[in-house]
Amino acid sequence: MSRKVKSRAIRRARKDRRCTENYCRIKAGEHYLYSVAPPWHDCNDSGKWWVIAACLRCAKRYGLHDNETQKQAEELGQAQEVKG
Ligand SMILES: [Zn+2]
Repeated sequence: MSRKVKSRAIRRARKDRRCTENYCRIKAGEHYLYSVAPPWHDCNDSGKWWVIAACLRCAKRYGLHDNETQKQAEELGQAQEVKG
């Protein structure tokens, strides 16, 4: 039985950073999806830590959310009315 790692969250960027999915830019103050998976985790078949910092557009586009972050992103998105 594999233990579920609490590894996914919506964060707010303190400074500009790069989206890991599409090399787009996450500006300071914007929200992004942060996700880590330890070595040899289900979705991680390498021996390294797998880290994602994806802008919410990419997170949605590539299906990176879990139920919780999906919900948070939707709530945040209502203000902006972003459509894929
Ligand atoms: Zn992106």
